[in-house]
Amino acid sequence: MTLQQAKQVWEAALGHLQMQVTRPSYETWLKDTVGIDQSDGEFVVGTPNAFVAEMLEQRMYSLISQAMEKVTKGQVDVRFHVLSKEASRYSPEVAGGPGSNGHDDLQQRHIATAGGVRTPAPANGRPIYLNPSYTFDTFIVGKSNELAHAAAAAVSENPGYIYNPLVIYSDVGLGKTHLLHAIGHRVRSRGQSLIYTTTEEFTNEYIKAIRDGKTEEFRGRFRSTDVLLLDDLQFLIGKEQTQEGFFHTFNALHMTNRQILITTDRPVTALTLLEDRIRSRLGGGLVVDIQPPDLETRLAILRAKADLLRQRVDVDVIQFLGERIHNNVRELEGNLNRVVVYAQMTRSPITLELVKRAIADTLSPNSRRRLAPDSVLDAVSTYFSVDKDALKGPRGKKSVSLARQVTMYLLKEEANLGPTSIGRILGGKDHSTVVKNCAKIVHLLNVDPHLRRDVINIRDSLVLA
Ligand code: ADP
Ligand code: MG
Repeated sequence: MTLQQAKQVWEAALGHLQMQVTRPSYETWLKDTVGIDQSDGEFVVGTPNAFVAEMLEQRMYSLISQAMEKVTKGQVDVRFHVLSKEASRYSPEVAGGPGSNGHDDLQQRHIATAGGVRTPAPANGRPIYLNPSYTFDTFIVGKSNELAHAAAAAVSENPGYIYNPLVIYSDVGLGKTHLLHAIGHRVRSRGQSLIYTTTEEFTNEYIKAIRDGKTEEFRGRFRSTDVLLLDDLQFLIGKEQTQEGFFHTFNALHMTNRQILITTDRPVTALTLLEDRIRSRLGGGLVVDIQPPDLETRLAILRAKADLLRQRVDVDVIQFLGERIHNNVRELEGNLNRVVVYAQMTRSPITLELVKRAIADTLSPNSRRRLAPDSVLDAVSTYFSVDKDALKGPRGKKSVSLARQVTMYLLKEEANLGPTSIGRILGGKDHSTVVKNCAKIVHLLNVDPHLRRDVINIRDSLVLA
């Protein structure tokens, strides 16, 4: 089986699995996996780390093999293979060839299916996708977003007359799309027509219209709408032709008091690449920004999301999660989802201990940098009962060298160190020795479940410390 076929088979299986498991569960455990190979009745699935491999193997195996049976119409054993970071990021072999890296494909498909429900738009006959959970009711208001929220609410009550256009600006993951959809729901509930589109879709459609000689139809469709919701305007930067199309549409709508809403992740004044005429037009409306939420708002968001998930989550857990992530509500939410899924899968209550295990991966980017190499050495030496100096020493017994290799692997994965620094920490080992030994551990993690368990235990002890 070729890599491409393996990828397709697994994607089909993922399609089944997506219907079997909750969305948080899918996002946490399955989204970043990739089909790699099949031979001798064994299908190999790549996972981003040992933790995911473990979870899939221990807790989701029967679901997975059922899904595979549906796809392949036969019995297959599934094996999980931990891809090293390099492999999943750079190797064209694993990633699916230049220009089509497997991860992007997965993400693409995910974006395409995660969006929401298909409901007919009243006026222009095209389906409009609005995420059913992105409403004003579920939007938590705090100091950081109260202006944007107030403006969005006002506009949704009286589209076309107050602020036109309304531009919402913020960094990613802070609720722009949520507000845009919330406006969409309101507008739709009153029977007014709307178009929600990402600027990327807008661009693609426009280019297609030009190609097919159907620009009039294109404009007509947009011009017949009461409200235009245009997400991620920054995508227009550098796309002259589409800017032109956008400008005409914009003008036509604006002149007839149709409401235009725009989000962008760059401040409008910084959209210097946009043509002046678009910029000055944008300036005619209102620009509001959303700042990262303060702790109080983050806690309120987490509380609300937990309620939506119908989960009882203690104050200390909410506090712990709220203090971790500052700048991105999506990540904040993601962590809560992981915790809930982990609790369900392990059938345990949501304790602080469990939280730290569940989000060990996401703690890493920040804590990794803070994770002292020495603590890795301590953890390994305690776990394997190997003297710390022996880890830094020359070769030694087999058990010592395995412990040393695990140390190298963990220094790389958990402390984010490069091979040269790792070599130095371990008593002056060669760069290439470190690379070789790390690769060896990656290999062993795939064939030796005991070692995999050991490495996970050590890593947990590091994160829990
Ligand atoms: P952006 O479009 O700015 O990148 P999104 O609107 O996609 O961000 O928001 C990311 C996630 O965070 C969504 O799941 C959204 O529901 C949630 N979110 C953001 N802000 C809030 C808020 N104030 N209250 C509740 N959920 C929020
Ligand atoms: Mg968005």
